[in-house]
Amino acid sequence: MTDNETDERIRPLKLDFARRIQSWLKHRAAPEKPKEEPETSIPQLAHNVLLDAVAERATDIHLDPEPEHLCVRFRIDGILRDVALIPRRHTAQFQGHIKSLVDIDPPPLLKPASGGTVYDLEGSEIHLRVTCTPSVQGEKISIRALDPKRIRYSLEELGLTSSQKEMIYDWLESMTGMVLVTGATGSGKTTSLYALLHELKLLNRSVVTIEDPVEYRVEGITQLQVNEARGITFSEGVKTMLRLDPDFLMVGEMRDIASAEAALSASSTGKVLLSSLHSRDAAGTVTALRNLNIEDFEITSALELVVSQRLIRRLCKDCKKEGRTPDKEVRWLESIGMKAPEQSWIGVGCDQCRGTGYSRRIGLFEVWRVDEDANQLILEHTDEKSLRRAIHESGVPTLLNDGLEKAAQGITSISELRRISSYGFGI
Ligand SMILES: [Zn+2]
Repeated sequence: MTDNETDERIRPLKLDFARRIQSWLKHRAAPEKPKEEPETSIPQLAHNVLLDAVAERATDIHLDPEPEHLCVRFRIDGILRDVALIPRRHTAQFQGHIKSLVDIDPPPLLKPASGGTVYDLEGSEIHLRVTCTPSVQGEKISIRALDPKRIRYSLEELGLTSSQKEMIYDWLESMTGMVLVTGATGSGKTTSLYALLHELKLLNRSVVTIEDPVEYRVEGITQLQVNEARGITFSEGVKTMLRLDPDFLMVGEMRDIASAEAALSASSTGKVLLSSLHSRDAAGTVTALRNLNIEDFEITSALELVVSQRLIRRLCKDCKKEGRTPDKEVRWLESIGMKAPEQSWIGVGCDQCRGTGYSRRIGLFEVWRVDEDANQLILEHTDEKSLRRAIHESGVPTLLNDGLEKAAQGITSISELRRISSYGFGI
């Protein structure tokens, strides 16, 4: 690979790390030993990767093995970008160092392993969750980096409309049943759950959680961590939680039958339960619960509120502009039975957004208060499609409605809405 090809592939972020890596690659390209060894050590390089990742608001760092390199990629605003290539001769040492941070043995693994740590990044604590998997290309490592300072603790900032916020505050005051935050992986469910927990804390309620893993520590609430090796399963954890006499319980995620049963048993004691669940939209939540072996009558007796969500990129405020809606977006909207606006916003691309036209993300929401009519339909085992139609006919705006509203306000674009709609949207 020539330097030019390398430069093109890397498209360096402005930061220190990519520059240093590029300098390494230039040395590597020289036929004889480099005159000047880069002064950076492997631990310092790893530190720089993390510094860059946090500075760029990356949520995940991927280290992907390739024949000649280890490709470092950052997930920024939900999209993966190549940021650097580490030469093969440094790959094993680099991977080994990352693994040693979370107490995984540095030599190549025979089976997947994961671990977590709190990393001191120049005085601020970053939560790292490292997952390593052997693959035919070599060892793949992904690092989830959580910066507790970045979490938005207020419902206001998530992107909820004022009527959606009102529905949530109504529920907080009624203190009954189960609220589920639902969406696909990476849709911001955890952030919303923590924002809800924070609201509860402000109301001086007693809150106990069981999570796997505890992603953020919240002062003023009690958080239990699942630890199968020590016998703390979801169901044991729920029993412990109930003994602590809380007003609110949170089961981090209903991801399998055991955690779903644990959550249901907690809510059947009359306690208020919060949890998250993987589903496409509000109606899909009922299907997801049925798939976890929960009976229709159990769903109707527990489920009070569903906050379904999806993250969408925000237009860069420095380069967005309004113009005629592109034909492609008009055709897409018409194909799904929506009327296309004549004018809409697009992101042109500038230095501030690295030419992408977008910066940061915001939630699209569908907030569904499960009423008597809906309960009747669930008890009749109505299929998902009919239930979806009934929910929307009752006046609950869909994720798409919310997205179109945010596009009309210039918060996002119609093409971004089309991009995320390919993951299923509850239309
Ligand atoms: Zn821009």
